[in-house]
Amino acid sequence: MKQKLTIAVASGKGGTGKTTVSASLALAAADTGHKTAYMDCDVEEPNGHLFLKPNISYRHMVGIPVPIVDQDKCTACGLCGEICQFSAIVCINKNVLTFDKMCHGCGGCSLVCPAEAITEHSRNFGVVETGDCGNNLKFYHGKLDVGEIHSPPLIEAVRETAQGEDLNIVDASPGTSCPVVAAIKGVDYILLVTEPTPFGVNDLEIAVDMVKELGIPHAVVINRSVPEHTLARDFCRDNNIKILAEIPDDRRVAEAYSKGELPYSGVEGYRELFKELIDTIIKEAGR
Ligand code: SF4
Ligand code: SF4
Repeated sequence: MKQKLTIAVASGKGGTGKTTVSASLALAAADTGHKTAYMDCDVEEPNGHLFLKPNISYRHMVGIPVPIVDQDKCTACGLCGEICQFSAIVCINKNVLTFDKMCHGCGGCSLVCPAEAITEHSRNFGVVETGDCGNNLKFYHGKLDVGEIHSPPLIEAVRETAQGEDLNIVDASPGTSCPVVAAIKGVDYILLVTEPTPFGVNDLEIAVDMVKELGIPHAVVINRSVPEHTLARDFCRDNNIKILAEIPDDRRVAEAYSKGELPYSGVEGYRELFKELIDTIIKEAGR
């Protein structure tokens, strides 16, 4: 591989096998000699660690600056409440109230306060953990605290913490909303994982619209593929989207999954499938 490559693995819906595919690809990349980083950016429900079993060696909390008001200095002018777009600071009956969980840490209130009554402290909402999984494979993930809304900044923190190996695999959250956009921003290639059901294809269509909008090269992997179920194949053909692999609907894969094992490591024949898939992606991405 001549240049570094960052691949995101995404899906329009949950349950398509996105983490199974991304974690298997990371192992296949590392086993074929690439210095690889796996980044689990599904920060609301990270589960790549259950398969890859990393040795976590470093963790750091991630937070945002939220306001603290010195009531002795405050003149109750109300300017802080007027500028806040999230109603996280309000001035009522000459008292200023703050709501930390609604604050987005923009710093606007402290900037406009004419009495210099606002200082900031950091409020943590998640953690980034780093580790390794043995030969060539580094592991990163983010864990968002329960009840928190700040997925995108935590995802950005995961991406920033990972310094970038030769080959980087980003496991994005399912769907097409802000957390997914934060995870796939700046990647070189996107692999969309789908299943050949009406639900899978409906959500694949939405995911394809998103990646086209972002202008990122992409292709599809059909998981739990059954020869006679052609919906996903038909959609890709009609929309000129390459299918790089079809992973068969295989009871042995489901049994391995139920034991926390990847098909790559636990089921005969899949090691070759994923090694071939990572080679194909590298070629498709022009590396
Ligand atoms: S930092 Fe921004 S979001 Fe938070 S309370 Fe102040 S103005 Fe509102
Ligand atoms: S802007 Fe400053 S002085 Fe005015 S209400 Fe807010 S905290 Fe008080």
